[in-house]
Amino acid sequence: MKKRKSRALTALAVLVVLAAIAAAAMKLGLFERKNTVRDEPVPDWVDVQLIDIDGASRRGVKLEEINDIVVHYVGNPGTTAQQNRNYFNNPDSEVSSHFVIGLDGEVIQCVPLDEKSSATSERNRDTISIEVCHPDESGKFNDSTYRSLVRLTAWLCDTYGLSADHVIRHYDTCGKECPLYFVRHEDAWEQFKADVDSAM
Ligand SMILES: [Zn+2]
Repeated sequence: MKKRKSRALTALAVLVVLAAIAAAAMKLGLFERKNTVRDEPVPDWVDVQLIDIDGASRRGVKLEEINDIVVHYVGNPGTTAQQNRNYFNNPDSEVSSHFVIGLDGEVIQCVPLDEKSSATSERNRDTISIEVCHPDESGKFNDSTYRSLVRLTAWLCDTYGLSADHVIRHYDTCGKECPLYFVRHEDAWEQFKADVDSAM
C-alpha cells in the first residue's frame, strides 16, 4: 500500500515538472509559429522596381503576418509585367502586388516583402501577392510565365517556411474569379501546387 502511494506521488511530481516545462515553453513561444514578417533580398532573376509610397497602392504599412501566398491574374490580356507595374505606380492607382510575372517569364518586384500590397482586400494584412500576365481572355498562363510562377512561389514558400498548402487563389479569399483559369480548371490549380511542392 505504501509503495503504491509513493509511486503515485512520483508520478504526480513528474506531471508537475512536465506542466512547468510546457508552461515555460509556451511563454517562450516555442509552440507557436513564429511571425515571419521580414524583408528578404530577392534572387537575381527578380527585377526590383519598387513603386512609390503615394497612397492606396502603396501606403508603406507593414504586414502583420505572412500566412499565405496569393496568386492573381492581371485580367488584362496581352499586357506586360512592366505595364502592370507602371500602372500600380500611377498616383491614381489603388492596387498593387508584391510581384508581377510577365509573358516572357520576367519577374518584377513592386512592394517590399515586409509591407502590405493592395491586391487581396482584407487579406492584404497577412499575404504576399503575385499578379500574373496572360496572353488571352482564357487567363491561361503561357509556359515561360508558368515556369516563373512556380519558381517564385517555391522560393517564397522556402523563404517564409510555408508549405504548398499555403499557396491560395484570390478566389479562395472572396470568391472572385481570379486567377480565372485556375478557378475554372481545378485540376490545373492542383497541378500547379504539386509543381510548387516539387520545386521547393
Ligand atoms: Zn485577384
